[in-house]
Amino acid sequence: MTRPALLSLDDALPQLLAQAVALPRVETVSTFEADGRVLVQDVVAALQVPPQDNSSMDGYAVRASDCAQADAVLRVTQRIPAGTHGTQLNAGEAARIFTGAPIPPGADAVVMQEDCEALEGDQVKVSKAVLAGQWIRRSGEDVTRGATVLSKGTRLTPAELGLAASIGLAQLQVSARPRVALFSTGDELVMPGDVAPEAMPAGAIYNSNRFFLRAMLQRLGCEVTDLGIVPDKREATIAALRDAAQHHDLILTSGGVSVGEEDHIKPAVESLGELNLWQLAIKPGKPFAYGKVNRDADSDDCHFMGLPGNPVSSFVTFLLLVRPFVLALQGVTKTDIARTEMTAHFDWPRADKRREFLRVKRNAQGGLDLFPNQSSGVLTSAVWGDGVVDNPAGQTIAKGDTVRFISFAE
Ligand code: AMP
Ligand code: MG
Repeated sequence: MTRPALLSLDDALPQLLAQAVALPRVETVSTFEADGRVLVQDVVAALQVPPQDNSSMDGYAVRASDCAQADAVLRVTQRIPAGTHGTQLNAGEAARIFTGAPIPPGADAVVMQEDCEALEGDQVKVSKAVLAGQWIRRSGEDVTRGATVLSKGTRLTPAELGLAASIGLAQLQVSARPRVALFSTGDELVMPGDVAPEAMPAGAIYNSNRFFLRAMLQRLGCEVTDLGIVPDKREATIAALRDAAQHHDLILTSGGVSVGEEDHIKPAVESLGELNLWQLAIKPGKPFAYGKVNRDADSDDCHFMGLPGNPVSSFVTFLLLVRPFVLALQGVTKTDIARTEMTAHFDWPRADKRREFLRVKRNAQGGLDLFPNQSSGVLTSAVWGDGVVDNPAGQTIAKGDTVRFISFAE
């Protein structure tokens, strides 16, 4: 029997993203609560920032033509703290002004207070010659009225929340959180806390995938329903998938997606819907699957993604495939992962037929060190490392070679 060639990641990812149509549900949230959420419309400024020309220093607002030479003496006729505004400034006059206060009409420069000397009788001596425009922040130099300051499809970060607030927005329109049902398969799995380490029966292991998958989904803005561990039984797997499909946008599973007799995910999905992708030419992560599970009421189906059980395989396939998918469900326009060229400080003498993702760490010399054990079960590699090298199929690596690095920070 000849096995069909595995699908390449470059072929699979566009097929996957073509299925990840942005969910139509929209929410209005407080700008305070919008970190990590995705804008569903452009944000346009209704005012200039700063709103008026204002002082960037504590000092004196002056007419530069009065101070063309050093040591000009001016009469101080007004005082403008931040939050107030001044009046017309005439020739021969200065206004005491503070950072952020609007420049009064008639003034065209600010002298910092370090360059001034207050004299008797409300007078000030300006020790240096003054240039028109100095120490003035111009209206609109940050944002001009009518400008699109944030675009639809942007995933908001703290800096963007500040910018939205600076143009007066207390609320933002964002896409709803994708509802993701998460479950693990495997009769060997035990939840930490249920059984003490010293009492673990032979053959049992703790369920680690559940913890990082849930945390990663939440960080990406998903609302996670954690369905726990589903037994390695055909009927139980079908029941869990069918139930989860009713009220979720995506079902994410780990384990049971290979070809063993105890792997029920693939036939279960096929019986409830369709399996569109299965088995990719990547290492780790080959058993990855994508499909759809029918919903009873709705014509629209629930997305299904099956990750391999081996923890590192699960972790890497999440990064490469689930992450862009759940971002796309939220309408994120830029879902591709950043790859940086870096220098390998290690040898990888044995090429693999599959594209490999090697756990590495950036070192102080600006290169990459390799974790010695690249087995897909060794989760220590993901903790020790800060990313993976994306190594093409059939490629060896020698110390000094340029490789493509993907940071876990993504
Ligand atoms: P599977 O994909 O179900 O064949 O599992 C592959 C390997 O990953 C087996 O050694 C499992 O015991 C292990 N494994 C499966 N699920 C988990 C999990 N949730 N946490 C930790 N290890 C797991
Ligand atoms: Mg299993």
